Amino acid sequence: MRKYLLPQNGNFYKANFHTHSTISDGVWSPQKIKEEYQKRGYSIIAYTDHEIMIPHPELCDENFLAITATEISTNDNESVITNSYLFKKVYHLNFLSKDPNKTTFPGWSKNYVWLKQTLPYVTPEMEQRSETRHYDVDSINDIIKRCNEEGFLVTLNHPAWSIQDFTDYSGLKGLWGVEVYNTGCVVDAFLNDTTQPLDDLLRRGVAVSPIAADDNHNGGDNAHDSFGGWTVVKANDLNYSTIISALEKGDFYSSSGPQINELYIEDGILHVATSPCRSVAVISEHRFSRVINATDSPVTEAQFNLNPYFDNMLLAEKPVSSPYIRVEIVDEKGYHAWSRAYKIDELK
Ligand SMILES: [Zn+2]
Ligand SMILES: [Zn+2]
Repeated sequence: MRKYLLPQNGNFYKANFHTHSTISDGVWSPQKIKEEYQKRGYSIIAYTDHEIMIPHPELCDENFLAITATEISTNDNESVITNSYLFKKVYHLNFLSKDPNKTTFPGWSKNYVWLKQTLPYVTPEMEQRSETRHYDVDSINDIIKRCNEEGFLVTLNHPAWSIQDFTDYSGLKGLWGVEVYNTGCVVDAFLNDTTQPLDDLLRRGVAVSPIAADDNHNGGDNAHDSFGGWTVVKANDLNYSTIISALEKGDFYSSSGPQINELYIEDGILHVATSPCRSVAVISEHRFSRVINATDSPVTEAQFNLNPYFDNMLLAEKPVSSPYIRVEIVDEKGYHAWSRAYKIDELK
């Protein structure tokens, strides 16, 4: 029986889940962001202005959805090293709200509102809720836990730019996404995308999805940080609740170039249909990973027999705790697309 991993029916909606407007340190207004992204075929923007959550119902119409969101930062070692921001590790987390009208979120701290543009949005009621944040795994997990309880999807942003390593992210729980591509980091800091934190977390049983996003500020050194990385959501319509439900179910993939047109499994054979590309890979929690490379002409369809992989799993000396497979594609220019990770019970 054929089982669709990316839904068979529905529309593809292009989304940028990380953007900064004039409400924080971005150069474009929320309206300008909508206009520029719509010109390039986008339908969804999550407005993740720093440390503030501002709904944008005025931007929503039948062709455009604004997701209510924010990005919070928590600096390491603040009391020890002053004026040395560049030397500090930092957790940057995005919260995407399931409720479009939400304006408050766990972990809000007035100490982290450093931008004068953002200050007018801080209400006396918010000041009363102000918390102290700490750079340690337990404190961050506490914020993520409360976020999940209050209806937020939480993404760990640009761990490479944040100079974070395994010790910083491997203990995190309750994440929905981790950035594997951040255009701002690529164009400004010259860091390439990395899937290491994604696979490290997946191998530890955290059901986290790869997110490609712009983190655009559109000014100064970052003038060209738009339209480089995006997520494609497959859903029946563009209603807020429909899109959130698709994000929760994992009906999406991320990309910095290629398209994933079809993804399904039938009798243990995984089928992938893509835009023309150089390589299609299947990556798993163990060393099964397989790649199909283009020879004379680009690859647009690939098939992988996963039955030996399932057999290996049965032969494992001890049960594999968090088996998964995911698909990654590279096009002729070196741009990637990343499916989310699928657990074994979704494949059988
Ligand atoms: Zn950030
Ligand atoms: Zn950002």
